Amino acid sequence: MSFKIIHLNNAHDMVSCPYCEHIVLDWSQEQYIQPCEHTAFIALDLGFEFVSDIFEDKMKYSVDEIHDQSLNVFEAICSSKIPVTIYDMPLGVENYKRYIGFYND
Ligand SMILES: [Zn+2]
Repeated sequence: MSFKIIHLNNAHDMVSCPYCEHIVLDWSQEQYIQPCEHTAFIALDLGFEFVSDIFEDKMKYSVDEIHDQSLNVFEAICSSKIPVTIYDMPLGVENYKRYIGFYND
């Protein structure tokens, strides 16, 4: 695994892409999930909010399988061979987290 993890402390931080600076988690928008071309996935412990086709292809399980079988989302992310930088942040619900993955250049 070649993952770098960056921890954010606030559930409502704005998150922007480290490459193009597009705000991918934008709380001022009703549709706050705004992936850019560098975004591999946006996921919660509860399931995926967004996943790119390329990243999903390289995971051991498809998103449907993960959701249907209630598989561990973070483990599924780690099963991918694609190197990513993951921002993790609290979801603000119990101990759940949100994970935002950007492709490493
Ligand atoms: Zn970007």
